[in-house]
Amino acid sequence: MSKSDSNASILVIYTGGTIGMILDPIDGQLKPFNMNHLMETVPELRRFNFNIYTESFKVPIDSSDMSPLGWIELANIISQNHNNYDGFVILHGTDTMAYTASALSFLLRGLAKPVILTGSQLPIGMIRTDGKENLITALEISANNAIHGFNMCEVGIYFDSVLYRGNRTSKVSTGHFNAFSSPNYMALANAGVEISFNQSALLKDPKTGLLPFKGLNQNIAVLPVFPGITEKVVRAICQTEGLEAVILRTYGSGNAQRDKALLDPLKSFVDAGGLVLNVSQCAEGRVRQRKYQTGAALADLGVISGQDSTLEAAITKLMYCLGNYQKDKVADKFKTSLCGEISV
Ligand code: ASP
Repeated sequence: MSKSDSNASILVIYTGGTIGMILDPIDGQLKPFNMNHLMETVPELRRFNFNIYTESFKVPIDSSDMSPLGWIELANIISQNHNNYDGFVILHGTDTMAYTASALSFLLRGLAKPVILTGSQLPIGMIRTDGKENLITALEISANNAIHGFNMCEVGIYFDSVLYRGNRTSKVSTGHFNAFSSPNYMALANAGVEISFNQSALLKDPKTGLLPFKGLNQNIAVLPVFPGITEKVVRAICQTEGLEAVILRTYGSGNAQRDKALLDPLKSFVDAGGLVLNVSQCAEGRVRQRKYQTGAALADLGVISGQDSTLEAAITKLMYCLGNYQKDKVADKFKTSLCGEISV
């Protein structure tokens, strides 16, 4: 814990990922550092006028190993501590950060505090690391409510000088410091000499308090269409035992080939009570299923529009909705924004 002259307190939760690695001078390997030594590793943090507490996953993970269980663990840590801290920073690998941010936005509906995920492309122990700036500014943003009377109450990703809405974000680069993009929603804040917030873009506090959740239902699949996809591949996916929903990744504004190889297995799946959600392969723009005949064919089958959702938000919203609502209510949930994940 750091000592400070304000009463504000932030909880940093370390899950793993590149940001928490330092170079072991003995064997030259990158290893997770002990979060209890955060202040020694990043001494700049001592200068903040708020308290920083840390908690860590028992075994830090590469974010490729993140799972719905990990999301629930994080949601539980935050909901149990919601009243004890003014904000939360989650240190996370970049690979699945957008999935975790999206999942948390649904699991933490009713949140009244900032929850900021950040990470880095280079480990914090390396000279050119982007991790220090990302961590320092994520902390500053998370303490803004308490220190400057801000009212940020959502899950964000802070990376390379930009604060994004977490459930609008995708990882777009393996090699650049600006690894994330939010093509369908404006940045929540930009950090230059000052951190300038886009106040009107922030979610309003629903003042409900945190909503309880039952769980996440993983009985879903993603099926990217491509020219030449065969009926046996589509059937193999649609006939997966216990499968409840398929996210069809379509072309452009929600179009796919009007080929029985694709449409017949989808129709059988929908007729048997399965849900099919249409999410475009294009990062930017929205699904409009009746713009072209090729999209209308899907709408006629009962395929639900994923609107302008990212794939990460669609996957986690589907798991959340199937886990928390009756199946016949799920299609309606995709017409509305639960926590800013789509523009309606
Ligand atoms: N593979 C790493 C992870 O996602 C990469 C990173 O930390 O950025 O955990």
